[in-house]
Amino acid sequence: MVEYNDLIFEISRSGRVGSSLPESDVNKVDLQDKFPKHLIRDIPAELPEVSELQLVRHYTALSNKNHGIDNGFYPLGSCTMKYNPKINEDVARLEGFSRIHPYQPAETAQGALQLLYELQEELAVITGMDAVTLQPSAGAQGEWTGLMMVKAYLKEKGETRTKVLVPDSAHGTNPASATVAGFQTVTIPSNENGLVDVEELKKHVDHDTAALMLTNPNTLGLFEKEIVEIAKVVHEAGGLLYYDGANANAILGKTTPGKMGFDIVHLNLHKTFTTPHGGGGPGAGPVGVKKKLIPYLPVPRIEKDEDKYVIDFNQPLSIGRVKGYYGNFGILVRAYTYIRTMGPEGLRQVSESAVLHANYLRKKLEPYFEAPYSQICKHEFVLSGSKQKKLGVRTLDMAKRLLDFGYHPPTIYFPLNVEECLMIEPTETESKETMDAFADVMIQIAKEVENNPDVVLESPHTTVIGRLDEVQAARQPILRYTKEEAVEIDKEIVKS
Ligand SMILES: *Cc1c(COP(=O)(O)O)cnc(C)c1O
Repeated sequence: MVEYNDLIFEISRSGRVGSSLPESDVNKVDLQDKFPKHLIRDIPAELPEVSELQLVRHYTALSNKNHGIDNGFYPLGSCTMKYNPKINEDVARLEGFSRIHPYQPAETAQGALQLLYELQEELAVITGMDAVTLQPSAGAQGEWTGLMMVKAYLKEKGETRTKVLVPDSAHGTNPASATVAGFQTVTIPSNENGLVDVEELKKHVDHDTAALMLTNPNTLGLFEKEIVEIAKVVHEAGGLLYYDGANANAILGKTTPGKMGFDIVHLNLHKTFTTPHGGGGPGAGPVGVKKKLIPYLPVPRIEKDEDKYVIDFNQPLSIGRVKGYYGNFGILVRAYTYIRTMGPEGLRQVSESAVLHANYLRKKLEPYFEAPYSQICKHEFVLSGSKQKKLGVRTLDMAKRLLDFGYHPPTIYFPLNVEECLMIEPTETESKETMDAFADVMIQIAKEVENNPDVVLESPHTTVIGRLDEVQAARQPILRYTKEEAVEIDKEIVKS
């Protein structure tokens, strides 16, 4: 039909260009003479040759095939797919922020440094910590940074502790970060209420415990009520407490990890603090610490010296740099803008609405799905598709069916300790109508599973491509093909 459904390689015409430049008056030189031979291509790169307008339409058509928070509901649990207010974008694009250079002398970038300094201070208040680094560029990197500080702290005390305790409901990055930081992970099973069992925890805590990593509310959306006791058990054994604050949407302005007894926290600005999220980055995973860990924070530190902001490298016990320059600056500008536009009262309201919304949806859906932890939740909740599985339809099938209605599915098969798990997080900015419409579709799917399972099993029906063979994609990935093969493969996919 229309040419934008064609592949860009198909509309390519030899010699067509998307730009017109005046004739060059610089003498031509042969690249062969300027570069080592092995860096020069034998055959030209196979790039499509199209006009500027064709190129614009190509990328616009591709972007319309994406699902994002700006074009639909995205209730991905443990992921806080939050609306990014457009004022964040305006501020990040201000010339004073977007056109500075990281090698510029500090005296000429005082405004940017002030923003970084104030963001550190604000995040310290929000988390109840004494100091914050903005360097890590993701939650996982924040975890690793925190654990490297634990290591440096223990070394300075002359201790070698090797174990990091992680509950079985934790995000997969927790044990991964512990391993990369050189610790051994010990998994703590949750009790039947989905919480850390203090008696069970005590059995695992000893002189070899470096830290406990905890998410609170945990990844089931439940608040660890015994957190004060848990902190006491770990501290009395000489271990530290690490708070995975990737999703802090339920605690903003309500409580802080500091009050709960934690020593280290990371936040995901790309989740809780609205900055864009998805597509692999960029993100930001700032880390806050209590006083005793400040000497180990990454360098450089952004500090205030009377009325000047300075970049301080003089921190002899620091674990060093964990990221080039000062973190993902544009993301930090967006988070700062969000915090300043919301204010303390606004952030408190975020948490209240996030929790209200999650409980509203939970109550609507619980009659139709198995609810393994049916109790008041925080910003997210889990359901199980075990009832539907008995009828031959799995959670994956229901997730695919949701695509037919224009919804991004919730997180599925996580946390691992819930069978056929669906993890739903509506976020605070969704309207009642949006949540009602989503609930209606979920209920319709639950009914289809009983009356017309094939429509679910064969879904999605309305997307550009149908089901992918995920197992084959993982086992036999094809990472490189010629232009002709790409055209053939894409045609196959579009047909199926
Ligand atoms: C998303 C998430 C992480 C990891 O954050 P990344 O930025 O993806 O590295 C860690 N813990 C929890 C609970 C999360 O939801």
